[in-house]
Amino acid sequence: MKLILLGAPGAGKGTQAEIISKKLNIPTISTGNILRAAVKNGTPVGLKAKEFMDKGALVPDEVIIGIMNERLQEPDCAEGYILDGMPRTIAQAEALEAAGIDIDVALSIEITDAEIEARMTGRRTCTTCGATYHVVSNPPKKEGVCDICGAELTIRKDDEPETVRNRLSVYHRETEPLKDFYRSRGKLKLVDNQPTIADTTTVIFETLGI
Ligand code: AMP
Repeated sequence: MKLILLGAPGAGKGTQAEIISKKLNIPTISTGNILRAAVKNGTPVGLKAKEFMDKGALVPDEVIIGIMNERLQEPDCAEGYILDGMPRTIAQAEALEAAGIDIDVALSIEITDAEIEARMTGRRTCTTCGATYHVVSNPPKKEGVCDICGAELTIRKDDEPETVRNRLSVYHRETEPLKDFYRSRGKLKLVDNQPTIADTTTVIFETLGI
């Protein structure tokens, strides 16, 4: 299965991607995590991306397309994958098509801006492996420490309220039009965010028939 997860920043794409990834045994490819690792390691891509990410702006399409073309050729992508956070623009979606990538489903997690703003303040991210938690809905076993790798959890700079509002407006302007793009290709499926992570997973599994 080649699956694209759409939805506003903070909709739960990363969390649900990890769950679907385990269920279907296919990798999740998160451009956000790839970029954060590049920033941390100070690579040329990271140096270029950081200023955009800190403002909540999108990293230029050519940088993202370069990253994706490389990543999708790795052997673990042969049986399918979940794209979390890519494509974010029509140009990126067209680049996937131009690369001959025929996705099966674009699944959009629907949630209001007000819910997102409330939710983002509680989000915590692992500085090392990128895993995400929420102080209320998905807390780590030990406060401030990643369950998976034991590293410290922090608030992402771009999860601060002002930046979140900017990311939401970028989402509505640049990324939401992708719903029409995939609808016109018969690939779009919508799921409403549910009160718990598990409930949202149930609706997603039903919608995907997995
Ligand atoms: P995310 O973790 O998916 O919310 O991504 C964090 C930030 O990385 C975004 O706010 C953008 O600055 C950048 N980013 C991630 N994926 C993309 C993409 N496909 N296109 C452009 N920028 C991206």
